[in-house]
Amino acid sequence: MKPPLTVAYFTMEVALSADIPTFAGGLGVLAADLMRSCADLAVPTACVTMCWQHGYMHQEIAPDGTQSYSEVSWDPQKFMKLLPERVNVTLEGHNVTVAAWKYDLKGTESVLPIYFLDTNLPENREEDRDITKYLYGGDGAMRIKQELILGIGGVRMLRALGYSDIGTFHMNEGHSAFLTLELLRERDFKDDDVRGSCAFTTHTPVKAGHDVFNYDLAWKIAGENLPWHIKKLAGEEQLSMTHLAMHLSHYTCGVSRVHGVVSNMMFPNEHIDFITNGIHHTHWVSKELGKLLDVSVPGWREDPSLLEKGNSHLSDADLWKAHQTAKKRLLKAIKPYTQQELNPDILTIASARRVVSYKRPELLYTNLERLKEVGHGKIQIIHAGNAHPQDQFGQEVIKRMIERSHTLKDSITIVYVPNYNPDLAALLTAGADVWLNTPMRLHEASGTSGMKAAMNGVINLSTLDGWWVEGYEQDSEAGWRIGPLAEALADANEHRKIDAEDLYTQLQYEVIPEYYYENRARWVHRMKRSIGLLSTFNTHRCIREYCEKAWRKNR
Ligand SMILES: *Cc1c(COP(=O)(O)O)cnc(C)c1O
Repeated sequence: MKPPLTVAYFTMEVALSADIPTFAGGLGVLAADLMRSCADLAVPTACVTMCWQHGYMHQEIAPDGTQSYSEVSWDPQKFMKLLPERVNVTLEGHNVTVAAWKYDLKGTESVLPIYFLDTNLPENREEDRDITKYLYGGDGAMRIKQELILGIGGVRMLRALGYSDIGTFHMNEGHSAFLTLELLRERDFKDDDVRGSCAFTTHTPVKAGHDVFNYDLAWKIAGENLPWHIKKLAGEEQLSMTHLAMHLSHYTCGVSRVHGVVSNMMFPNEHIDFITNGIHHTHWVSKELGKLLDVSVPGWREDPSLLEKGNSHLSDADLWKAHQTAKKRLLKAIKPYTQQELNPDILTIASARRVVSYKRPELLYTNLERLKEVGHGKIQIIHAGNAHPQDQFGQEVIKRMIERSHTLKDSITIVYVPNYNPDLAALLTAGADVWLNTPMRLHEASGTSGMKAAMNGVINLSTLDGWWVEGYEQDSEAGWRIGPLAEALADANEHRKIDAEDLYTQLQYEVIPEYYYENRARWVHRMKRSIGLLSTFNTHRCIREYCEKAWRKNR
């Protein structure tokens, strides 16, 4: 028997560090940060995820911009312990055995177990051993199997480990929604009983991003795991994991205020709240700035809401010095990837993220003449970001960006750093001067990299989408917005032109003059206001909101 849990947090991916590659991107980074805060706040939590042999891929870039992606090999034994318990899940009529590795996530106030489920066991058939091989790899059949292992296998594993009292089963995105099927079985198929102990966070503002399976395939693979009324729960036409999760949760939320609005438009019959994402502030702060804040804002580590008021005690000179140290560390780390030396006294703009079209990675390059006129000799740019190995569009974007760095080299130094991962993200979000983000409006659910930047006094320059709508509203002196806050225009190209033009204007008349010509004090003032944003956009605040709204005991 184990002590009661407030929450069992189910997630397809967790990004603890670059050498545990069981993640693809932001969803995993968020899960890790939320779990870090649960551990610090001593919220009794167990996390359930999958022991992917291959998740995030190592990216290399040739001088001509072509990329190769290779699997990161890792040995779970180095980081975690294989537990003796085994559970079974029936797939396609035969038995699959599931094991779990336990990772101890150490917080300041408690240690939180993360259970990594694994089917790569000698007793399983070869094809079943591969279920935990590739994160988001494989076809629909493979995806159903993976999600059955996570959901049903996960609940069974928790029971086998002795967790009998679990307040809430939390589904981080729809991938884990099959956990509701096991709970239904435990509770005589009483929907209401299950609903009372489930909560759900949706992350995807576009319909195509939601997992759906056709019922023929679902019956073939999940068979007896599906209850008689599955179509009532998950949709008549197709099995929608999002519908299943929503219909069996007492609470559903999106991950920012605008994302909440968009989700309610997508699912007009549901009530979807929002809990805006955050980051784990002490994980992402540079060590130099962390030390300064210990002196100027005592208690900020335990209570980041103090950051709002205390930053006035931070000395300008000390803050600037800490920032320049982080900047030099970044420039040193990326030196192997650039022909041209980057200069720590030049305004450095970083833009790093997964390369997908809605994030408009090339917006800055819409008008090269204008960019040269604005930026010649005054800015240097660092990019990073992986494209999915099967994603032709993304790979071509990266190639074009690298070609452009060559053609522009006499006016603007541009570096594309390979292999974006959480370690590189930490360097970039501490060492840049400006964090550029240009998503197409209403497409960014939240975004969290800008929060990491703000934590380090790196100033956001972003279109108003996701979290930045709230960040900019909280303190418009903390950064700059690109383009208007408006409904997405029907014509994406028109919108693109407006945003690009405004981006050049912001750079020319706001960002560059403030950095160079005005008193540096004004820039440093903005840096402090950026740090102040972390009073809100931290995962301690998220976890308190989850406890209040989604994980309340004794409902
Ligand atoms: C923080 C982080 C993300 C999420 O950032 P976005 O704002 O969505 O771009 C993605 N990948 C890595 C490696 C990160 O560290």
